Amino acid sequence: MKKLTVGAQVAKKIRKGIQLLDAGDFPESLEMETVVELQDQSGQLLGTAYLSQQNKGIGWYIGTGKRKLDSVFYHNLFQAAKSKRRAYFEDSHTTAFRIFNQDGDGFGGLSIDLYGDFALFSWYNAFVYSQKETIVAAFQSVYPELAGGYEKIRFKGLDYESAHLFGQEAPANFTILENGVSYQVFLNDGLMTGIFLDQHQVRGSLVDGLAAGKSVLNMFSYTAAFSVAAAMGGAVETRSVDLAKRSRELSQAHFVANHIDLEQHFFHVMDVFEYFKYAQKKGLGFDVIVIDPPSFARNKKQTFSVVKDYHKLVSQALTILNPKGVLITSTNASNLSIEKFKAQIEKGFAGIPHKYLATYRLPSDFAVNQSDESSNYLKVFTIQVEK
Ligand code: SAH
Repeated sequence: MKKLTVGAQVAKKIRKGIQLLDAGDFPESLEMETVVELQDQSGQLLGTAYLSQQNKGIGWYIGTGKRKLDSVFYHNLFQAAKSKRRAYFEDSHTTAFRIFNQDGDGFGGLSIDLYGDFALFSWYNAFVYSQKETIVAAFQSVYPELAGGYEKIRFKGLDYESAHLFGQEAPANFTILENGVSYQVFLNDGLMTGIFLDQHQVRGSLVDGLAAGKSVLNMFSYTAAFSVAAAMGGAVETRSVDLAKRSRELSQAHFVANHIDLEQHFFHVMDVFEYFKYAQKKGLGFDVIVIDPPSFARNKKQTFSVVKDYHKLVSQALTILNPKGVLITSTNASNLSIEKFKAQIEKGFAGIPHKYLATYRLPSDFAVNQSDESSNYLKVFTIQVEK
């Protein structure tokens, strides 16, 4: 195995527990797609890493000592990750959740989600992808009970992004359960699946009382999963707003899966800022407003970035929030710290009295690397205005 010497700062970072390696950690040009031994400047072994270009970073530290990436290594990783999630496997009201999460489970560059009887693999770089046969065989030895698997390609260079991987094929779409609510999902249509599993606690809060008897506005709704959760939790009316044309049909499918009458549930295919204007003009008001934008968004007129512009969503939402109403503010931007996110929200409130009712970060199935704050990318606040 090739040995690479890293500088003092990098050795310190690795000893602290950070597993993601940056291009800046290695000044010389590197041979990529390979496993290396890292040592500090005094020649002391730091551990094993692999190098591969990905969206963020150029590789992952995978543990102390000399590690061999063979089927035993992967089997043990998957077994440990499975044991950690026993409570999820035992809960018959939830059949979709994350069963392996990158560095939080000791191996960055790979995540695996469970959707009922099927596994969904996400490969984040060419190196993990090249290990696919060994990884899938080890996975199947830990999960013999699963019917089949699919894969998503989350790095550049291949001519496909989604495919069937092993075992039986899943129906084109089928329903999973979460907190007792049904959602319609699809495993082989682009990178999306119809639901973002990392929000299950927030949806759970809507099912469990936050939305009871309330009118709910869901901004950037995608398939309206928050609206369905709210409806199942007793919301009297939901409105879901998303630019994507396909969102309407996919949203209705979630409602139909739960046998909910669509009469009091509305879908608006439009820009959220246009909807704010429309609602202000009509004098509409909502008891709960969910705001969950993508990190960057572009429409014909403007670009939007959560880092700079989140406050605008908050101030707009406040103009159509009913007295004592609740905002659910969410972001998955890993480049926005929780402090800066809060600062954006406070700027939007501009002194209007409010209190924070709850904070959500990634749920425990999305295991995070405790030493690396940026791996816990999800930040959600439930906030109530005081008047
Ligand atoms: N809240 C959703 C996930 C949102 S994903 C959920 O819980 O499932 C981001 C969504 O924002 C995408 O569906 C995209 O179509 C939509 N979007 C992006 N820019 C928008 C805009 N300006 N107005 C309305 N929707 C927008």
